[in-house]
Amino acid sequence: MRLIYEKLLLVLGHQHWWPADTPFEVVVGALLTQQTRWSNVEQAISNLKAHSLLDTDRLAGADIPKLEELVRCTGFYRQKARRLKNLARYFSLHADALYDRPVEDLRKDLLELDGVGEETADSIILYAANKPKFVIDAYTRRILGCLGLRGSYRSLQEMFESELEHDTEMFKEYHALIVEYGKQYCGKNRCGDCVLVEK
Ligand code: SF4
Repeated sequence: MRLIYEKLLLVLGHQHWWPADTPFEVVVGALLTQQTRWSNVEQAISNLKAHSLLDTDRLAGADIPKLEELVRCTGFYRQKARRLKNLARYFSLHADALYDRPVEDLRKDLLELDGVGEETADSIILYAANKPKFVIDAYTRRILGCLGLRGSYRSLQEMFESELEHDTEMFKEYHALIVEYGKQYCGKNRCGDCVLVEK
């Protein structure tokens, strides 16, 4: 796992993720990014900012039709508007949740929220709460699959977490590198140039 990280870093350099001004913006981005491109998420976040809604209390109290309009560009906007409001309510009521709770307790709470699956919960824990949790996404699965490694979300996560030191900044960088590599290589079928899989 360390070798993959070093190869990715060598090829792509540091990624400086997650692109957000505040931890709550990370939370919002993690939910909105489901099943859409990041450029659409950026548009929705900019809309929310323009209406001063990137704030837990204000978002928790926002009108659903208004929210739907602001996040429409991310697809599944009705569902996402409702889920965003729910998430905002949770963080508004538990302001200290991100920082003070043990990782597994926070994960359990997040997974109980509507629309928060393992990848979204772990992205929030890693990038918003700044706690070491390895995120598994579709590109991670694809790359590991090419290396003959398959399994459930938790078993793949365990593979990384048991082999790497629990360094939050490195986990952030590693996931960002995987996503970038996935976009630039796997997603563009540049398998002939792949530095991870031996030909
Ligand atoms: S570039 Fe191709 S071979 Fe390499 S990890 Fe991605 S999908 Fe697999």
